[in-house]
Amino acid sequence: MPIYDEVLAANEQYAASFGDKGALALPPARQFAILTCMDARLDPAKYAGLAEGDAHVIRNAGGRASDDAIRSLVISYKLLGTREWFVIHHTNCGMEFFTDDVMRGLLASSLHTAELGPDGFRDVGSGPGSAEAAYIDWLTIADNARSVVEDVTRIRSHPLVPARIPIYGFIYDVATGRLVEIEEATKAGLAAAA
Ligand SMILES: [Zn+2]
Repeated sequence: MPIYDEVLAANEQYAASFGDKGALALPPARQFAILTCMDARLDPAKYAGLAEGDAHVIRNAGGRASDDAIRSLVISYKLLGTREWFVIHHTNCGMEFFTDDVMRGLLASSLHTAELGPDGFRDVGSGPGSAEAAYIDWLTIADNARSVVEDVTRIRSHPLVPARIPIYGFIYDVATGRLVEIEEATKAGLAAAA
């Protein structure tokens, strides 16, 4: 079955047993938010025990504290009342396997999907590509514990983020499903006493 049909069939089943979820409130009931990677192996609802209506989950490549992730976090607390935030990166993240220069080179040569081999990504497609990639900061990761510390620190020191919100830093282990706290990150994200 094509993916398009699979998705609509799955949605049909979901809606058929939707129950009373139509009555859920807009603000997240458990008043917290998670910023995490879009990696297909990560399911925040499962690894953090979320049901519909519980929490905000903001996802991007790497779970990085980009300007747009911060935009969502600010909306999350300012308009929708979240009080605690988690930044969760993970082991074996695809963002560790390339750099800005590599990504710019790959896209400059071709818009086809690259292959991931033992030596990183390499192009197997044909051109033309585009030089537009040179204008994007891809927010790649060299060390995932370091990236969690950096992102928690960036959010903590952002002028639109109040000091009362604690920010916790974690690495999700794709081999075990376990969340491992990065103490230096959580320390950097400590809330100021009210
Ligand atoms: Zn990832």
